[in-house]
Amino acid sequence: MPSPVAHSLIGLAIGAGWLVPRGRLREVAAHAWRLRGPLLLCILAANAPDLDFLPGIAIGNLNAFHQTYSHSLSFAAAFALLLAWLYRRWPARRAWAWLFLLVCSHLVADLFSVDTRPPIGIAALWPFTSETFIAPFSIFQPLRKAEWADFIQWHNARAGLLEMACCLPPVLAVWFWKARRSSAADLLSTHSPHR
Ligand SMILES: [Zn+2]
Repeated sequence: MPSPVAHSLIGLAIGAGWLVPRGRLREVAAHAWRLRGPLLLCILAANAPDLDFLPGIAIGNLNAFHQTYSHSLSFAAAFALLLAWLYRRWPARRAWAWLFLLVCSHLVADLFSVDTRPPIGIAALWPFTSETFIAPFSIFQPLRKAEWADFIQWHNARAGLLEMACCLPPVLAVWFWKARRSSAADLLSTHSPHR
């Protein structure tokens, strides 16, 4: 399953696409800075299913609950509702639906990952079934993380670089989309008698 690097970049791309208004490059950067709180919450939502590491850490077995209940559509719906309710100052409408999409982006990224540790795949339809699902082909490589000391190794660094290669382009694409002024807007501002 991908690391928080991939999930965070995907969350940033979706969150920026939803929340940041279009404008000139400097305006987009200013909007993004002003909206840093909601954007951070979008990144949190895109990582939320991996909160299932926390009870595992508490009992000394990192993977004890991983890829089970929190990697499901029902968790995505519940988490989206909760976050939309807890944080009431979303600068755009339909926060619940966008937060649901953000949590689901995590499930999709995990589906398209190599999984070598049973249960293979994610329990996406829990509690209706505990059956696990995985895509027929994979994009992301799994991290080696049986123990804390396993994190620092070349295999994980290479997996992280692959994630950046896959997930940075969508962030840049949203950035360019937001920063590109439409020709109609340019013409209007150029020929405006009030300038
Ligand atoms: Zn996950």
